Amino acid sequence: MKVGIFALQGDVSEHKKMLHNAGKELGMAIKVVELRDFENFNCDALIIPGGESTAMRRLTHDKDSNKFLNFLKKISGEGIPIMGTCAGLILLAKNVDGKFYDGLLDIEVKRNDYGRQRESFEEDIDLNLNGTTKFHAIFIRAPVIEKVNKGEILADFEGKVVAVKDENVIGLTFHPELTNNTKIYKYFLNLI
Ligand code: GLN
Repeated sequence: MKVGIFALQGDVSEHKKMLHNAGKELGMAIKVVELRDFENFNCDALIIPGGESTAMRRLTHDKDSNKFLNFLKKISGEGIPIMGTCAGLILLAKNVDGKFYDGLLDIEVKRNDYGRQRESFEEDIDLNLNGTTKFHAIFIRAPVIEKVNKGEILADFEGKVVAVKDENVIGLTFHPELTNNTKIYKYFLNLI
């Protein structure tokens, strides 16, 4: 299986390591491709890492803002699993800070909403991946998902949704690549 990671910014090598570990545990041979653009995409799954969503949006929407969204719509329509973490989730959202972006996930997101005191924090959350499991979630200047208009809630924390899934698209407000827990990656790879 070939998994593409958008390598514009963010925790690319950490995601890569987790994908290899998850693949090993599943007995699945995983090849990871670092993507600098989205032309000629030929992977079985896509990860959009965290980083800074404004910078990432500038890079992905550079010439034509619809190009990136159309690319995501096309591959998700083909059933390719897509996972966005933190800023990656922001790029997948339809609504961000009250603005309409027409992303794949019909959710309403507020950026940097945990406040200065809690710019970064870690919490054990209950994550629902075919049954509930504890997961140590690391939040870094995380967004909050204020409303899920369509999709399944995989986890919430303090009354806010922190993980969501709509068919083959997953969005997380936290950083699974910074843990040693491969559960989310195995779940993601099994969607292929
Ligand atoms: N605060 C960042 C943003 O709004 C996201 C942070 C992250 O990806 N860790 O883009």
